[in-house]
Amino acid sequence: MSGLVLVVNAGSSSLKYDLIDVDAGASRASGVVERIGEPSSRAKHSVDGVDHRIEGTCADHGAAFELLIDAFREHGPDLAGLDLTAVGHRVVHGGADFSAPTRIDDQVEATIERLVPLAPLHNPANLEGIRVARAHFPDVPQVAVFDTAFHQTLPPHAYTYAVNRTWRDEHRVRRYGFHGTSHAYVSRRAAELLGLPVPEANVIVLHLGNGASATAVAGGRSVDTSMGLSPLEGLVMGTRPGDLDPSLPAHLSRAGVSLEDYDRALNKESGLKGLIGTNDFRELEERVTSGDVEAGLAFDVVAHRLRKYIGAYAAVLGRVDAVAFTAGIGEHSPMLRAAALDGLADLFGIEVDPAANEAAMSGEHRISTAASRVAVLVIPTAEELEIAREAAAVAAGA
Ligand code: ADP
Repeated sequence: MSGLVLVVNAGSSSLKYDLIDVDAGASRASGVVERIGEPSSRAKHSVDGVDHRIEGTCADHGAAFELLIDAFREHGPDLAGLDLTAVGHRVVHGGADFSAPTRIDDQVEATIERLVPLAPLHNPANLEGIRVARAHFPDVPQVAVFDTAFHQTLPPHAYTYAVNRTWRDEHRVRRYGFHGTSHAYVSRRAAELLGLPVPEANVIVLHLGNGASATAVAGGRSVDTSMGLSPLEGLVMGTRPGDLDPSLPAHLSRAGVSLEDYDRALNKESGLKGLIGTNDFRELEERVTSGDVEAGLAFDVVAHRLRKYIGAYAAVLGRVDAVAFTAGIGEHSPMLRAAALDGLADLFGIEVDPAANEAAMSGEHRISTAASRVAVLVIPTAEELEIAREAAAVAAGA
Protein backbone atom coordinates (compact mmCIF):
# COMPACT_ATOMS: atom_id res chain seq x y z
CA MET A 1 0.00 0.00 0.00
CA SER A 2 1.58 3.21 -0.99
CA GLY A 3 1.04 6.58 -2.56
CA LEU A 4 -1.02 9.65 -2.06
CA VAL A 5 -4.72 9.39 -1.28
CA LEU A 6 -7.16 12.27 -1.19
CA VAL A 7 -9.70 11.43 1.50
CA VAL A 8 -13.08 13.09 1.10
CA ASN A 9 -15.56 13.18 3.97
CA ALA A 10 -18.65 14.97 2.73
CA GLY A 11 -21.10 15.72 5.54
CA SER A 12 -24.46 17.42 5.42
CA SER A 13 -23.06 20.94 5.76
CA SER A 14 -19.33 20.34 5.62
CA LEU A 15 -16.68 18.87 3.37
CA LYS A 16 -13.56 17.64 5.07
CA TYR A 17 -10.55 16.58 3.06
CA ASP A 18 -7.13 15.22 3.76
CA LEU A 19 -4.28 14.45 1.41
CA ILE A 20 -2.59 11.46 3.01
CA ASP A 21 0.86 10.08 2.27
CA VAL A 22 0.09 6.45 3.01
CA ASP A 23 3.75 5.37 3.22
CA ALA A 24 4.55 8.02 5.80
CA GLY A 25 1.17 7.59 7.55
CA ALA A 26 0.92 11.36 7.58
CA SER A 27 -1.15 14.17 6.19
CA ARG A 28 0.38 16.40 3.48
CA ALA A 29 -2.43 18.97 3.65
CA SER A 30 -5.95 18.99 4.98
CA GLY A 31 -8.91 21.24 5.32
CA VAL A 32 -12.58 21.70 5.84
CA VAL A 33 -15.28 23.72 4.18
CA GLU A 34 -18.01 24.46 6.72
CA ARG A 35 -21.50 25.92 6.59
CA ILE A 36 -22.19 24.71 3.06
CA GLY A 37 -25.59 25.99 1.98
CA GLU A 38 -25.57 28.82 4.51
CA PRO A 39 -25.17 32.48 3.53
CA SER A 40 -21.51 32.59 4.46
CA SER A 41 -19.33 29.50 4.29
CA ARG A 42 -15.91 29.34 5.82
CA ALA A 43 -12.97 27.18 4.97
CA LYS A 44 -9.59 26.31 6.35
CA HIS A 45 -6.72 24.79 4.38
CA SER A 46 -3.79 23.60 6.47
CA VAL A 47 -0.40 22.86 4.96
CA ASP A 48 3.08 22.76 6.49
CA GLY A 49 1.70 23.79 9.87
CA VAL A 50 0.07 26.95 8.50
CA ASP A 51 -3.72 27.47 8.50
CA HIS A 52 -5.10 29.45 5.58
CA ARG A 53 -8.58 30.82 6.22
CA ILE A 54 -10.82 31.21 3.20
CA GLU A 55 -14.14 33.06 3.17
CA GLY A 56 -16.73 32.44 0.51
CA THR A 57 -20.19 31.24 -0.27
CA CYS A 58 -20.68 27.60 -1.17
CA ALA A 59 -24.25 26.92 -2.19
CA ASP A 60 -23.58 23.18 -2.53
CA HIS A 61 -20.93 20.48 -2.35
CA GLY A 62 -19.90 21.12 -5.97
CA ALA A 63 -18.95 24.67 -5.04
CA ALA A 64 -17.19 23.41 -1.91
CA PHE A 65 -15.13 20.98 -4.01
CA GLU A 66 -14.15 23.83 -6.36
CA LEU A 67 -13.00 25.76 -3.30
CA LEU A 68 -10.94 22.73 -2.20
CA ILE A 69 -9.24 22.48 -5.62
CA ASP A 70 -8.51 26.23 -5.55
CA ALA A 71 -7.11 26.01 -2.01
CA PHE A 72 -4.70 23.25 -3.06
CA ARG A 73 -3.69 25.25 -6.16
CA GLU A 74 -3.14 28.45 -4.19
CA HIS A 75 -1.58 27.15 -1.01
CA GLY A 76 -0.22 23.80 -2.19
CA PRO A 77 0.38 21.11 -3.02
CA ASP A 78 -1.34 21.59 -6.40
CA LEU A 79 -3.40 18.44 -6.96
CA ALA A 80 -3.05 18.87 -10.73
CA GLY A 81 0.67 18.12 -10.41
CA LEU A 82 0.29 15.03 -8.20
CA ASP A 83 -0.14 11.41 -9.14
CA LEU A 84 -3.01 10.42 -6.83
CA THR A 85 -3.22 6.72 -5.98
CA ALA A 86 -6.89 6.96 -5.07
CA VAL A 87 -9.64 9.15 -3.76
CA GLY A 88 -11.10 7.56 -0.62
CA HIS A 89 -14.67 8.46 0.28
CA ARG A 90 -16.23 8.02 3.67
CA VAL A 91 -19.68 6.57 3.04
CA VAL A 92 -21.98 6.27 6.01
CA HIS A 93 -24.36 3.42 5.09
CA GLY A 94 -23.32 0.30 3.27
CA GLY A 95 -26.42 -1.66 4.35
CA ALA A 96 -26.08 -5.38 3.71
CA ASP A 97 -24.64 -4.64 0.26
CA PHE A 98 -21.14 -3.62 1.33
CA SER A 99 -19.06 -5.28 4.00
CA ALA A 100 -15.67 -4.06 2.76
CA PRO A 101 -14.15 -1.02 1.05
CA THR A 102 -15.26 -0.99 -2.58
CA ARG A 103 -14.01 0.60 -5.81
CA ILE A 104 -16.69 2.96 -7.07
CA ASP A 105 -18.27 2.61 -10.50
CA ASP A 106 -21.71 3.67 -11.75
CA GLN A 107 -23.31 0.56 -10.28
CA VAL A 108 -21.76 1.09 -6.85
CA GLU A 109 -22.89 4.71 -6.95
CA ALA A 110 -26.43 3.56 -7.77
CA THR A 111 -26.40 1.07 -4.88
CA ILE A 112 -25.27 3.79 -2.44
CA GLU A 113 -28.11 5.91 -3.78
CA ARG A 114 -30.59 3.09 -3.07
CA LEU A 115 -29.38 3.10 0.55
CA VAL A 116 -30.27 6.80 1.00
CA PRO A 117 -33.53 6.03 2.88
CA LEU A 118 -31.43 4.35 5.60
CA ALA A 119 -29.19 7.43 6.07
CA PRO A 120 -31.02 10.44 4.63
CA LEU A 121 -28.72 13.00 6.27
CA HIS A 122 -25.48 11.35 5.20
CA ASN A 123 -25.57 9.18 2.08
CA PRO A 124 -26.80 12.04 -0.17
CA ALA A 125 -23.91 14.22 0.99
CA ASN A 126 -21.46 11.32 0.54
CA LEU A 127 -22.81 10.82 -2.98
CA GLU A 128 -22.32 14.51 -3.74
CA GLY A 129 -18.68 14.15 -2.72
CA ILE A 130 -18.31 11.05 -4.91
CA ARG A 131 -19.88 12.69 -7.95
CA VAL A 132 -17.83 15.89 -7.85
CA ALA A 133 -14.62 13.94 -7.18
CA ARG A 134 -15.28 11.47 -10.02
CA ALA A 135 -15.95 14.39 -12.38
CA HIS A 136 -12.69 16.08 -11.39
CA PHE A 137 -10.54 12.97 -11.29
CA PRO A 138 -12.08 10.57 -13.82
CA ASP A 139 -8.88 8.52 -14.14
CA VAL A 140 -8.12 8.11 -10.43
CA PRO A 141 -9.59 5.05 -8.62
CA GLN A 142 -12.37 6.15 -6.29
CA VAL A 143 -12.99 3.95 -3.26
CA ALA A 144 -15.92 3.95 -0.84
CA VAL A 145 -15.09 3.08 2.78
CA PHE A 146 -18.23 2.30 4.77
CA ASP A 147 -18.99 3.28 8.36
CA THR A 148 -21.03 0.15 8.85
CA ALA A 149 -18.31 -2.42 8.04
CA PHE A 150 -16.65 -2.73 11.50
CA HIS A 151 -19.99 -3.61 13.09
CA GLN A 152 -20.58 -6.66 10.89
CA THR A 153 -19.24 -8.66 13.86
CA LEU A 154 -22.26 -7.80 16.06
CA PRO A 155 -23.82 -11.01 17.38
CA PRO A 156 -27.45 -11.66 16.31
CA HIS A 157 -28.78 -10.94 19.81
CA ALA A 158 -27.29 -7.43 19.57
CA TYR A 159 -28.30 -6.59 16.00
CA THR A 160 -31.80 -8.07 16.02
CA TYR A 161 -34.71 -5.75 16.76
CA ALA A 162 -37.76 -7.41 18.32
CA VAL A 163 -40.05 -6.75 15.35
CA ASN A 164 -41.93 -9.04 12.97
CA ARG A 165 -40.27 -11.34 10.45
CA THR A 166 -41.41 -9.37 7.40
CA TRP A 167 -39.74 -6.23 8.64
CA ARG A 168 -36.58 -8.12 9.53
CA ASP A 169 -36.33 -10.22 6.36
CA GLU A 170 -37.88 -8.11 3.62
CA HIS A 171 -37.04 -4.63 4.84
CA ARG A 172 -33.66 -5.60 6.34
CA VAL A 173 -34.57 -3.95 9.64
CA ARG A 174 -31.64 -4.59 11.96
CA ARG A 175 -28.90 -2.74 13.77
CA TYR A 176 -26.01 -1.87 11.44
CA GLY A 177 -23.97 0.59 13.50
CA PHE A 178 -21.85 3.49 12.24
CA HIS A 179 -18.57 5.40 12.78
CA GLY A 180 -16.94 1.98 12.25
CA THR A 181 -13.63 3.35 10.99
CA SER A 182 -13.27 5.47 14.11
CA HIS A 183 -14.36 2.78 16.58
CA ALA A 184 -11.96 0.30 14.96
CA TYR A 185 -9.01 2.69 15.06
CA VAL A 186 -9.61 4.05 18.58
CA SER A 187 -10.22 0.64 20.17
CA ARG A 188 -7.04 -0.70 18.57
CA ARG A 189 -5.08 2.35 19.70
CA ALA A 190 -6.47 2.02 23.24
CA ALA A 191 -5.15 -1.56 23.42
CA GLU A 192 -1.75 -0.38 22.16
CA LEU A 193 -1.59 2.42 24.74
CA LEU A 194 -2.39 -0.06 27.53
CA GLY A 195 0.18 -2.53 26.23
CA LEU A 196 -2.51 -5.18 25.73
CA PRO A 197 -2.84 -7.48 22.72
CA VAL A 198 -5.91 -6.36 20.74
CA PRO A 199 -7.66 -9.77 21.14
CA GLU A 200 -7.48 -9.34 24.93
CA ALA A 201 -8.64 -5.74 25.30
CA ASN A 202 -12.21 -4.77 26.16
CA VAL A 203 -12.88 -1.14 25.32
CA ILE A 204 -15.89 1.17 25.40
CA VAL A 205 -15.36 3.74 22.65
CA LEU A 206 -17.31 7.00 22.84
CA HIS A 207 -17.21 8.81 19.50
CA LEU A 208 -18.71 12.20 20.31
CA GLY A 209 -18.84 14.56 17.34
CA ASN A 210 -21.78 16.10 15.56
CA GLY A 211 -22.89 12.53 15.16
CA ALA A 212 -22.22 10.46 18.27
CA SER A 213 -22.09 6.76 19.04
CA ALA A 214 -20.85 4.37 21.69
CA THR A 215 -19.44 0.94 20.92
CA ALA A 216 -18.56 -2.03 23.10
CA VAL A 217 -15.46 -3.64 21.62
CA ALA A 218 -14.45 -7.07 22.92
CA GLY A 219 -11.05 -8.26 21.73
CA GLY A 220 -11.08 -6.05 18.65
CA ARG A 221 -14.62 -6.99 17.62
CA SER A 222 -17.63 -4.73 17.83
CA VAL A 223 -20.19 -6.56 20.01
CA ASP A 224 -22.73 -3.77 20.54
CA THR A 225 -23.14 -0.24 19.31
CA SER A 226 -25.59 2.56 19.96
CA MET A 227 -26.51 3.52 16.40
CA GLY A 228 -28.91 1.13 14.73
CA LEU A 229 -30.67 0.83 11.37
CA SER A 230 -29.71 4.44 10.79
CA PRO A 231 -27.41 6.92 12.54
CA LEU A 232 -30.41 8.29 14.50
CA GLU A 233 -30.42 5.86 17.43
CA GLY A 234 -28.50 6.05 20.67
CA LEU A 235 -26.74 9.09 22.08
CA VAL A 236 -27.99 12.69 21.93
CA MET A 237 -26.28 14.35 18.93
CA GLY A 238 -25.90 17.72 17.24
CA THR A 239 -29.17 17.57 15.31
CA ARG A 240 -30.42 14.03 16.05
CA PRO A 241 -32.24 12.90 19.19
CA GLY A 242 -30.84 9.41 19.71
CA ASP A 243 -33.17 6.99 21.54
CA LEU A 244 -36.89 7.71 21.43
CA ASP A 245 -40.12 5.89 22.18
CA PRO A 246 -41.06 3.97 19.00
CA SER A 247 -44.66 5.15 19.38
CA LEU A 248 -43.62 8.68 18.42
CA PRO A 249 -44.44 8.49 14.66
CA ALA A 250 -48.01 7.30 15.36
CA HIS A 251 -48.49 9.84 18.13
CA LEU A 252 -47.33 12.75 15.98
CA SER A 253 -49.17 11.51 12.92
CA ARG A 254 -52.43 11.62 14.91
CA ALA A 255 -51.53 15.22 15.76
CA GLY A 256 -51.17 16.03 12.03
CA VAL A 257 -47.39 15.90 11.65
CA SER A 258 -46.46 14.49 8.23
CA LEU A 259 -43.88 11.75 7.86
CA GLU A 260 -41.73 14.20 5.88
CA ASP A 261 -41.78 16.75 8.72
CA TYR A 262 -41.10 13.99 11.22
CA ASP A 263 -38.09 12.77 9.27
CA ARG A 264 -36.67 16.24 8.82
CA ALA A 265 -37.18 17.14 12.48
CA LEU A 266 -35.44 13.98 13.69
CA ASN A 267 -32.51 14.33 11.29
CA LYS A 268 -31.94 18.06 11.29
CA GLU A 269 -33.82 19.80 14.08
CA SER A 270 -33.43 17.58 17.12
CA GLY A 271 -30.59 16.79 19.51
CA LEU A 272 -28.76 19.87 20.77
CA LYS A 273 -30.28 21.95 18.00
CA GLY A 274 -33.76 20.98 19.16
CA LEU A 275 -32.96 21.63 22.80
CA ILE A 276 -31.08 24.93 22.61
CA GLY A 277 -31.16 26.06 18.96
CA THR A 278 -27.53 25.30 18.11
CA ASN A 279 -25.57 22.12 17.45
CA ASP A 280 -22.28 23.73 18.47
CA PHE A 281 -21.11 22.08 21.70
CA ARG A 282 -18.72 24.96 22.42
CA GLU A 283 -21.67 27.34 22.50
CA LEU A 284 -23.54 24.94 24.78
CA GLU A 285 -20.60 24.91 27.20
CA GLU A 286 -20.33 28.70 27.20
CA ARG A 287 -24.03 29.02 27.96
CA VAL A 288 -23.82 26.40 30.74
CA THR A 289 -20.89 28.26 32.29
CA SER A 290 -22.78 31.55 32.17
CA GLY A 291 -25.71 30.01 34.06
CA ASP A 292 -28.20 29.52 31.20
CA VAL A 293 -30.83 27.14 32.67
CA GLU A 294 -32.01 25.76 29.30
CA ALA A 295 -28.42 24.99 28.30
CA GLY A 296 -27.84 23.36 31.71
CA LEU A 297 -30.73 20.98 31.09
CA ALA A 298 -29.47 20.18 27.57
CA PHE A 299 -26.00 19.38 28.92
CA ASP A 300 -27.51 17.12 31.61
CA VAL A 301 -29.59 15.28 29.01
CA VAL A 302 -26.49 14.65 26.88
CA ALA A 303 -24.39 13.52 29.86
CA HIS A 304 -27.14 11.32 31.35
CA ARG A 305 -27.63 9.42 28.07
CA LEU A 306 -23.90 8.91 27.80
CA ARG A 307 -23.69 7.50 31.35
CA LYS A 308 -26.51 5.07 30.61
CA TYR A 309 -24.63 3.66 27.61
CA ILE A 310 -21.37 3.39 29.54
CA GLY A 311 -23.17 1.39 32.24
CA ALA A 312 -24.95 -0.77 29.69
CA TYR A 313 -21.77 -1.57 27.77
CA ALA A 314 -19.87 -2.34 30.97
CA ALA A 315 -22.55 -4.98 31.57
CA VAL A 316 -22.32 -6.23 27.98
CA LEU A 317 -18.53 -6.59 28.18
CA GLY A 318 -18.34 -7.96 31.74
CA ARG A 319 -14.83 -6.58 32.11
CA VAL A 320 -13.70 -3.18 30.86
CA ASP A 321 -10.05 -2.28 30.31
CA ALA A 322 -10.61 1.22 28.96
CA VAL A 323 -13.16 3.88 28.22
CA ALA A 324 -11.91 5.94 25.27
CA PHE A 325 -13.23 9.35 24.25
CA THR A 326 -12.81 10.59 20.68
CA ALA A 327 -14.06 13.08 18.01
CA GLY A 328 -14.70 16.82 18.36
CA ILE A 329 -16.53 16.78 21.70
CA GLY A 330 -14.88 13.67 23.14
CA GLU A 331 -11.42 15.07 22.49
CA HIS A 332 -12.14 18.62 23.62
CA SER A 333 -14.75 18.67 26.34
CA PRO A 334 -13.38 17.94 29.82
CA MET A 335 -16.74 19.15 31.12
CA LEU A 336 -18.69 16.37 29.41
CA ARG A 337 -16.07 13.69 30.12
CA ALA A 338 -16.20 14.55 33.82
CA ALA A 339 -20.01 14.63 33.96
CA ALA A 340 -20.41 11.33 32.10
CA LEU A 341 -18.02 9.45 34.41
CA ASP A 342 -18.72 11.21 37.71
CA GLY A 343 -19.43 8.83 40.59
CA LEU A 344 -18.61 5.60 38.73
CA ALA A 345 -15.62 4.65 40.91
CA ASP A 346 -17.39 2.27 43.31
CA LEU A 347 -19.57 0.39 40.83
CA PHE A 348 -17.34 0.33 37.75
CA GLY A 349 -13.87 1.22 38.99
CA ILE A 350 -13.78 4.30 36.75
CA GLU A 351 -12.06 7.26 38.38
CA VAL A 352 -11.14 10.42 36.46
CA ASP A 353 -8.19 12.58 37.49
CA PRO A 354 -9.66 16.12 37.30
CA ALA A 355 -6.33 17.83 36.52
CA ALA A 356 -5.41 15.32 33.80
CA ASN A 357 -8.92 15.64 32.36
CA GLU A 358 -8.74 19.44 32.19
CA ALA A 359 -5.28 19.31 30.63
CA ALA A 360 -6.22 16.82 27.89
CA MET A 361 -7.21 19.07 25.00
CA SER A 362 -5.20 17.66 22.12
CA GLY A 363 -3.25 14.47 21.47
CA GLU A 364 -3.49 11.15 23.30
CA HIS A 365 -3.93 11.20 27.07
CA ARG A 366 -4.73 8.95 29.99
CA ILE A 367 -7.07 10.93 32.24
CA SER A 368 -7.84 8.34 34.92
CA THR A 369 -6.22 8.25 38.35
CA ALA A 370 -3.46 5.75 39.11
CA ALA A 371 -5.98 3.86 41.30
CA SER A 372 -8.67 3.64 38.61
CA ARG A 373 -9.32 -0.01 37.65
CA VAL A 374 -10.45 1.11 34.21
CA ALA A 375 -8.20 3.36 32.13
CA VAL A 376 -9.92 6.47 30.80
CA LEU A 377 -8.29 7.61 27.57
CA VAL A 378 -8.62 10.51 25.16
CA ILE A 379 -7.60 9.36 21.69
CA PRO A 380 -7.91 11.64 18.64
CA THR A 381 -9.62 9.66 15.93
CA ALA A 382 -7.73 9.04 12.68
CA GLU A 383 -10.54 8.18 10.30
CA GLU A 384 -8.80 9.85 7.36
CA LEU A 385 -5.62 7.80 7.73
CA GLU A 386 -7.63 4.59 8.05
CA ILE A 387 -9.72 5.47 4.98
CA ALA A 388 -6.56 6.33 3.01
CA ARG A 389 -4.94 2.99 3.89
CA GLU A 390 -8.04 1.06 2.91
CA ALA A 391 -8.49 3.04 -0.32
CA ALA A 392 -4.85 2.51 -1.30
CA ALA A 393 -5.20 -1.23 -0.65
CA VAL A 394 -8.30 -1.46 -2.86
CA ALA A 395 -6.63 0.63 -5.60
CA ALA A 396 -3.56 -1.63 -5.47
CA GLY A 397 -5.71 -4.71 -5.88
CA ALA A 398 -7.80 -3.23 -8.66
P1 ADP B 1 -18.37 15.65 12.86
O1 ADP B 1 -17.07 15.12 12.30
O2 ADP B 1 -19.33 14.61 13.30
O3 ADP B 1 -19.00 16.75 12.08
P2 ADP B 1 -16.64 16.66 14.96
O4 ADP B 1 -15.97 15.42 15.40
O5 ADP B 1 -15.84 17.65 14.20
O6 ADP B 1 -18.00 16.36 14.23
O7 ADP B 1 -17.23 17.38 16.27
C1 ADP B 1 -17.99 18.52 16.17
C2 ADP B 1 -18.44 18.93 17.55
O8 ADP B 1 -17.28 19.08 18.38
C3 ADP B 1 -19.21 20.23 17.58
O9 ADP B 1 -20.32 20.12 18.43
C4 ADP B 1 -18.18 21.19 18.17
O10 ADP B 1 -18.81 22.26 18.85
C5 ADP B 1 -17.45 20.28 19.13
N1 ADP B 1 -16.15 20.85 19.52
C6 ADP B 1 -15.10 21.13 18.73
N2 ADP B 1 -14.12 21.73 19.45
C7 ADP B 1 -14.58 21.83 20.73
C8 ADP B 1 -14.05 22.35 21.95
N3 ADP B 1 -12.85 22.91 22.00
N4 ADP B 1 -14.80 22.27 23.06
C9 ADP B 1 -16.03 21.70 23.00
N5 ADP B 1 -16.58 21.20 21.90
C10 ADP B 1 -15.88 21.26 20.77
